[in-house]
Amino acid sequence: MEPKALPGPASERMSKQRSRDTGPELLLRSALHRRGLRFFVHRRPLPDVRREADMVFPRLRVAIFVDGCFWHGCPEHGTKPRRNAEYWETKIARNRARDADTDARLRAAGWTPVRIWEHEPPDQAADEIEQLIRDRARRLAESPTSDRRAQRAE
Ligand SMILES: [Zn+2]
Repeated sequence: MEPKALPGPASERMSKQRSRDTGPELLLRSALHRRGLRFFVHRRPLPDVRREADMVFPRLRVAIFVDGCFWHGCPEHGTKPRRNAEYWETKIARNRARDADTDARLRAAGWTPVRIWEHEPPDQAADEIEQLIRDRARRLAESPTSDRRAQRAE
């Protein structure tokens, strides 16, 4: 899937690292809401690292990223444009390196990064996320070091 035409000059939209509120992201958000999950959107999981996640569960330290197939080089749909092939290859490789770096920083800080491809069926992705969230919440509640505030359901 190649980037959709968005309003604004090409240079402006090309410079955006991550587009917000895309269709797949909104569908996933509502699928999660339907499952009773509450979260923050477009937040930095780590305040001192300038990387935003699409959905953030701060207490459980889970950060969800909905990755565009084109921009993040999906193995199924990561088609390479013929025009300016080298430019796009470099650009996408850089995005992927940045994704890996973001994940590493999050893990180092005790977070679980979750990456969802925009092509994944939202309900399937939501099921996986729900399972992870419920599991994290249960473990946190069972942890002897957790305080009362941390035991509230998120
Ligand atoms: Zn894809």
